[in-house]
Amino acid sequence: MTWKGTRALVVGMKKSGMASVELLVREGASVRATDLKPLESLPEAAALLAQLEVPFALQTPAVFENCDLIVLSPDVPADLPPLADARRRGVKVIGEVELAAPYLRGRVIGITGSNGKTTTTALIGHILGAANFPVQVGGNIGTPVTAMVDSSRPDGWNVLELSSFQLETIEGFRAHIGLALNVTQNHLDRHHTFENYAAAKGRLFETMREGDFAVLNAADPVCRSYAQRTRATVEWFGSNEKAGGLALAASLCGSSLLLDGRQLLDAAEIPIRGRHNVENVLAAAIAAARAGVGPANIAAAVRTFRAVEHRLEFVRRVSGVDFYNDSKATSVDAALKALDAFPGNLWVILGGKDKGLDYSLLRDPLAAKAHAALLVGAAAPKIAGQLGGAVRLIDSQTIDRAVTQAYHAAQPGDTVLLAPACASFDQFRSFEHRGEVFKELVNRLQRRK
Ligand code: ADP
Repeated sequence: MTWKGTRALVVGMKKSGMASVELLVREGASVRATDLKPLESLPEAAALLAQLEVPFALQTPAVFENCDLIVLSPDVPADLPPLADARRRGVKVIGEVELAAPYLRGRVIGITGSNGKTTTTALIGHILGAANFPVQVGGNIGTPVTAMVDSSRPDGWNVLELSSFQLETIEGFRAHIGLALNVTQNHLDRHHTFENYAAAKGRLFETMREGDFAVLNAADPVCRSYAQRTRATVEWFGSNEKAGGLALAASLCGSSLLLDGRQLLDAAEIPIRGRHNVENVLAAAIAAARAGVGPANIAAAVRTFRAVEHRLEFVRRVSGVDFYNDSKATSVDAALKALDAFPGNLWVILGGKDKGLDYSLLRDPLAAKAHAALLVGAAAPKIAGQLGGAVRLIDSQTIDRAVTQAYHAAQPGDTVLLAPACASFDQFRSFEHRGEVFKELVNRLQRRK
C-alpha cells in the first residue's frame, strides 16, 4: 500500500485528523487539510500544518475537489453531499481507522457497542498487560489508531475502541477478535435510522476472516444479527435465561462467572460496580482467552482492575461516607444503571444541561434507595417537577454546594453519588471537567471529628 503522490484531503483537524495528516505526509502523499472551524481556533493543528507545510482551507464544497483520497475524522458525517459527489468521481473516501489499517503491525482486538466500550477496552488492555502481552490501547478511547502505527509491534496486540462513525467506512481494516457489547438507540442524529447505525457497527464483523473470533452479546437482537454476517467463529456471552438456547462461551450463572464451562470468578470479586459491568467482564474474558491468556491470569487481572475515570469511579471514603463519580452518566438510562449498582443509603447529585429526557423514570429507584436527590444546574427545575413527591429534593444549584450539603447530611455507611443524568455543558466544558471538579471538592473535604 502506498499513497506516494496521492492527492489527499483530511477532513476534521482534531487529534485523529492531525495523526492522519502526519501518516499521509510520511507516506509521500500530497496532503491538504480542512475543518469547519478556521485555523485560528485550532492552534495545535495550525502548528502541525505549518511545520509539515500542509495547506489548510475552510470546509466548503469546493474543498472536496481535485483529490484522489479523502480521510474523514470520526465526527465528520460520511454522507455529506460533496462526499457523495466525490465517490461518484471515483475518489476513495475512508475513515482514520481504515487509513491506519495496512500500517498497523500485530493483531487487533476491536470493541464496539452503544455502551461499555471504554470500560471493556480498558479492561482488555489491563488483562493483556497483566499477562505481559505486548499491548497498546487506543482508538476512540484516546490515541487515534493512526498515531499507534509507529509503536505497533508484529508480536503485539492493538486493543481498539471503535465507534460506529469509525467503522462505517472500513473495508480493509480487520479485527482478529471483534466484540459487540450491545446496540441500542444512539446517535440517530448522525446515522438517521437505527438500521444504518446498527449496520455501521456491523461492518466490524463483515471484514473478519475465518479463524477470527466475534464476541457477541447473546441477549441483544442486533448483536445476534451480526453472527449471520461474519466468517469469524462466534463466541456468545450473557446469562443463560436470556440467551435463547445459544451456547455461551462466558456466562453468569447465579453469582458465578463461567468461562468455557469453568468457574472464572464470583461476581462479588469484580471491583467495578453494577450488573452492566458483569457483562463487560464476560465479554473481555472471552477476548482475552482467545488472545491466549489463561483463565487464572484473567481472573487475577479482573480483580485488580480499577474503574475508568468518571465511570462509577470510587473517589474516597471520608468519615465513613463513600463518594462515587459517575459524571459520564449523562443520560437517564446511565443514571439508572448507576443507581442499580448500589443497595441504598444514597445521596444522589442530579442535574446539568437537559437533553430532553424523562427524569420521572428515576422516581422509583430514588424512592427505594436515596435519602435525597441534590439538584444542580439548568435542568434542576424540570427534574424537580418530575421527581416531586418521590424523594426528598435539595436545591443545591452547584456541585460545590451539593458536595458540602450531602457530606453534612450523610451518616457513616452512606454513599454520595454524582450521576447527573444530564449533559455537563451548562456549568462545565465536558463530563470530564465536571468529574474533575467533583473529585477535587471531595478530596478537599475534612474528616469529621
Ligand atoms: P462507552 O465508551 O461505550 O460510552 P463506557 O465504558 O464509557 O462506555 O460506559 C458509559 C456508561 O454506559 C456507563 O456509565 C454505564 O452507565 C453504561 N454501560 C457500561 N457498560 C454497559 C453495558 N455493558 N451495557 C449497558 N450499559 C453499559
